[in-house]
Amino acid sequence: MKRVYIREKEGKIELVDALSHDVISTFDSVSEAVGYAVKNHYQLPVQAFNGEFVTDKEGNYIYPGEKHDFEYADGTLLEDARLCPKCGWVAFWEEICDEDKNPRECYVCPKCGYVIECTPPPEETPAVD
Ligand SMILES: [Zn+2]
Repeated sequence: MKRVYIREKEGKIELVDALSHDVISTFDSVSEAVGYAVKNHYQLPVQAFNGEFVTDKEGNYIYPGEKHDFEYADGTLLEDARLCPKCGWVAFWEEICDEDKNPRECYVCPKCGYVIECTPPPEETPAVD
């Protein structure tokens, strides 16, 4: 499946081949471009809950992989990535420090800052008798 992305240029919406960066076609609106991509079985990048196309921190578009994973346009698998349940962006594995300065490995959403699936898991507060 050809991977594509959509960009705006000089007031026009361009549908672009994600590998060659050739402009496939030009449209008046994003929804037209999306419709065209769907009709031609092109694969668009992952879309967040607000409809925004998801990129990594370097601005590379992220595509749905074959399973429940994510890939770059060239098929490179994104390891250590999870869908952010809050905004639909892709959260990346990161080592962070919690409030007690303990290092923890978590998935951090670069978009909304949501932190998920930390290891070790947060310690349960002991019940006070
Ligand atoms: Zn998020």
